[in-house]
Amino acid sequence: MNCKELDITPLGAWTKGQDTPLIIAGPCSAESHGQMLEIAKGLAEIPAVRIFRAGIWKPRTRPGQFEGMGVEALPWLKEVKEQFGFLTAVEVANPQHIEAALKHDVDILWIGARTSVNPFTVSELAETLRGTDVGVMIKNPVNPDIQLWMGAIERFHAAGIRKLAAIHRGFSYFRKSPFRNAPMWELPIELKRICPALPVITDPSHICGNTSMLLAVAQKALDLEMDGLMIETHDNPEIALTDKEQQITPANLKLLLSQLIIRKKSGTPNFQDKLEQMRSEIDRLDHEMLEILSRRMEIIDEIGHYKKDNNITILQLKRWREMLQERIDSGLASGLSRPFLMDMLQLLHDESIRRQEVIFRNENEDAKLDGA
Ligand code: PEP
Ligand code: MN
Repeated sequence: MNCKELDITPLGAWTKGQDTPLIIAGPCSAESHGQMLEIAKGLAEIPAVRIFRAGIWKPRTRPGQFEGMGVEALPWLKEVKEQFGFLTAVEVANPQHIEAALKHDVDILWIGARTSVNPFTVSELAETLRGTDVGVMIKNPVNPDIQLWMGAIERFHAAGIRKLAAIHRGFSYFRKSPFRNAPMWELPIELKRICPALPVITDPSHICGNTSMLLAVAQKALDLEMDGLMIETHDNPEIALTDKEQQITPANLKLLLSQLIIRKKSGTPNFQDKLEQMRSEIDRLDHEMLEILSRRMEIIDEIGHYKKDNNITILQLKRWREMLQERIDSGLASGLSRPFLMDMLQLLHDESIRRQEVIFRNENEDAKLDGA
């Protein structure tokens, strides 16, 4: 069964409540009994927090750093659950982790970004869970590969896990970015489009890597219809043993949540009518744009034949440079943004070159449409 038709238990049915967004909070790492109870006490003041997270086994990029308290911390998590009524969540990366977590009544297991990249490990974890009724949340793989993310979800589903959710924690990216992990919102949006039943929870902490952008990222997640937030919380972030730059106190989490605007997914009939009118204008313009693009490509093909017949190169750098500059200036003057103009013009130019290559290679119409 592929992602499109997964049979998934609705989020509210296994996370203590129907209301979204679902809020998951707790420390990056469980560090001590006192730290866990102190954080839980603070989070218990925030009714929206349903799930208490804590990393017990920490995947560290370099050796020699704090790698988590291991099984010693599991009774602390159980105490948090019994004393405060939270559901509990830990990251698991091998069958021994799963066995220990389940023995201590952990409710939800999450698969970390460094684990969801590996189909062998994912399959092994999924098989270990076969026959259990535990919740599983799958973080996006570190690299922006939606197939890998969906593959991991499908593997747990195939092992009979139905309490499933995805966690969007951003992606490693080679370009300089203000984020620790680039959010690349188009990926979780595409995941939701392909797997409509799958809840997606955003993890602003690992996306931002700092505390100053948390609110903006959390707000954006909600405005993009994500189903919940996972936010790392520590009683004293300054001395946290892992991810101290991005953790906030429970009091600051309470403040952040109070600043979030929770918007409705649809409005009154009047609102919907007006929206539909505006949308039909967009539909009309999009079709007009497609028609113009198609006419543009017809002329590109004509130019391709003309260059080929006269033995002239496809790329004319001077023309491309001048054209790019002229279009960017004109687009900026019309209120379009520079990154958008750059991407759009680059895309148009790439496609024009590709079509002319097809003509130069004497290939048929199918090759033109396949986009090889
Ligand atoms: C974490 O949640 O603390 C963690 C290690 O996350 P990720 O797998 O997203 O890096
Ligand atoms: Mn962390």
